Amino acid sequence: MRRQIPMLDSEYKHNFHTHTFRCKHAKGDAVDYCEYAREHGMETIGFSDHTPLPDDRWISARMHVAQLDDYVSAVHRAQHEYPDLRVLLGMECEYVPKFHAFFEDELLGEREFDYLVGGPHFFTDDYGSWTGTYGGTVDAKSLKDYGRYVSEMIESGLFAFVAHPDLFGNCYKHWDANTISASRDIFEAAAECEVGLEINALGFRKIAKKKLFNPYPLYPWPPFWELASEYNVKVIVNADAHRPTDLQRMTSDAEALRVSCNLKAMDPMEIGAERST
Ligand SMILES: [Zn+2]
Ligand SMILES: [Zn+2]
Repeated sequence: MRRQIPMLDSEYKHNFHTHTFRCKHAKGDAVDYCEYAREHGMETIGFSDHTPLPDDRWISARMHVAQLDDYVSAVHRAQHEYPDLRVLLGMECEYVPKFHAFFEDELLGEREFDYLVGGPHFFTDDYGSWTGTYGGTVDAKSLKDYGRYVSEMIESGLFAFVAHPDLFGNCYKHWDANTISASRDIFEAAAECEVGLEINALGFRKIAKKKLFNPYPLYPWPPFWELASEYNVKVIVNADAHRPTDLQRMTSDAEALRVSCNLKAMDPMEIGAERST
């Protein structure tokens, strides 16, 4: 029987947001994703598993720091076994400022990662106390902290793009003056530093399964992206794949949002370009 392969726009030939089993909530290893990607005519698979942190914090949804060697070897093996695919070594990172050197010197430096992604699953206030975006409703002050935190993540110079910058749709119920202000902080930093912002297709997959009693709008949050069009920001669509069959799933919805908001697409060849030359 012939396999049904959907028509693809060029954008969907690239995915820079891919996890492996090491984060404890994904399935498959690097070669499994590459096999699926090859079968579906994709060109780039960037691995961006959830980063370990030097103190092994937030360990329930990421690898231990001791697994870094194994992760790097798995991506290198995929690069070797799939020479026709552009396979990149990356990591999705919560930006913990005191670990800046870990990201810069160890991951991008010593271990020669191709790129890093900022992932604001947690954010910090002025006093270094962390809040999760999956932990229930946050107030206006926390939303301000979120906007400042994501701006600092962008300004750190470590990240090619920020994954789901509108993740506060998980913990704030209504679009209002507070969401507008936090979003403007993020857009200003992204435009100034030329760091990409991701429209995340996993969010669309979550919205599709959203329970009626869930009071949160989730992400992607359309008014965020409408407001983004007032700024000179570049936008990337990614699947945020947690299993090989996710690699293109609902990326067309994410791309449709990008186009409807008239947002500039990030050049996929820009990511990891410095490393591949
Ligand atoms: Zn994940
Ligand atoms: Zn992710």
